[in-house]
Amino acid sequence: MDKINSIVEETHAELKSAVRELCGEFPDIYWRELDEKRAYPEAFVQALTHAGYMATLIPEEFGGAGLGVTEASVILEEVHHSGGNAAACHAQMYIMGTLLRHGSEAHKRQYLPKIADGSLRLQAFGVSEPNTGTDTTQLKTMAVRNGDRYVINGQKIWISRAEHSDLMLLLARTTPADQVKKRTEGLSTILVDLRQAVGHGLRIRPIRTMMNHATTELFFDNLEVPVENLVGEEGQGFRYLLDSLNAERILIASECIGDARWFLERTCRYANERVVFGRPIGKNQGIQFPIARGYANLEAARLMVARAASLFDSGKACGPEANMAKLLAADVSWELANVAVQTYGGFGFAEEYDIERKFRETRLYQVAPISTNLILSYLAEHVLGLPRSY
Ligand SMILES: Cc1cc2nc3c(=O)[nH]c(=O)nc-3n(C[C@H](O)[C@H](O)[C@H](O)COP(=O)(O)OP(=O)(O)OC[C@H]3O[C@@H](n4cnc5c(N)ncnc54)[C@H](O)[C@@H]3O)c2cc1C
Repeated sequence: MDKINSIVEETHAELKSAVRELCGEFPDIYWRELDEKRAYPEAFVQALTHAGYMATLIPEEFGGAGLGVTEASVILEEVHHSGGNAAACHAQMYIMGTLLRHGSEAHKRQYLPKIADGSLRLQAFGVSEPNTGTDTTQLKTMAVRNGDRYVINGQKIWISRAEHSDLMLLLARTTPADQVKKRTEGLSTILVDLRQAVGHGLRIRPIRTMMNHATTELFFDNLEVPVENLVGEEGQGFRYLLDSLNAERILIASECIGDARWFLERTCRYANERVVFGRPIGKNQGIQFPIARGYANLEAARLMVARAASLFDSGKACGPEANMAKLLAADVSWELANVAVQTYGGFGFAEEYDIERKFRETRLYQVAPISTNLILSYLAEHVLGLPRSY
């Protein structure tokens, strides 16, 4: 089984083994029970935070590890490879990037050390809205300046972890859409202190989804937020959002790689052990070949993720690579999820084998945080020079 990972060179062995050890304290049964109750993995998030992993990307001067997306990828991949799910906390790693790149010095000093030591959770990113979908530039939630406050009205949907986060980075309109020159202007990023906001202009409604994912709907009704919570320049929020997307795509891709490895290993094991017609089912090429193909696709996707992460960490442009990494990794985790269910036969549907749980979990990445179609249209238009389709 060790040979499975032989093609992509094993790097960061120490980091991987430390994360693996931590994840060993959260076995299948931990995730299965939470899934059943749709409960938040509080103990796991605490453990990951206290071990310092959530602060991987925060510079050392602000109390973080000062490492790169490559190391963050290693951590998230291992969490998923162990059978766990980092969706409960991964955003803490990358949302702070907007603060780091565009926040004032005072913001950075105020928030980053606390995010690094885990005393403040910045895990919620409020972008999506029910009526605008992927067309982010058309979002409607308004933040109107009134003296030293923004007054916020509107609605967001699919805002994950809002109930478990202290802060949320909100993307809201500060200039009406019909008064901006470019459709990407007029949006701003504002930090919302959820501890003060809930019950004072903000209502959170949890949404039960097909997998355990603490996602919610938010209703803003004259929520007041101090003007100093604006991050960066007013009206430039969409640009800041774009800045943060490559890191997010690479990190989610790493989670998909972790899922794919988990499916692959479980599937190989089961195919060797399960005896039907007097021989292991893995002896049948009808079972072997989809597993072998999935493995080849997994190794190719891993290379793309590693390439995107390395470009990102060396400060080079990596839009196409980050998008392709997310596309290929999400495809292969879904491919191997299907192969696993097929190989396990009826047992693939039984909760106690965890295949069906991971199958539901990994399906998300065809849709969020960006859907496969939108990545394809990005590649077609911006990389291949094909006509814009929308
Ligand atoms: C569990 C979960 C957690 C999430 N967490 C967050 C979060 O924390 N914060 C946040 O802001 N958002 C979050 N999201 C939202 C997520 O980013 C969006 O669901 C996703 O971007 C797709 O948007 P939509 O659901 O509005 O789909 P729509 O935009 O309505 O699209 C529906 C379908 O049509 C396709 N489509 C749309 N336009 C085109 C086109 N021009 N060409 C081809 N196909 C097209 C899409 O690919 C998609 O398959 C989450 C979503 C889920 C399900």
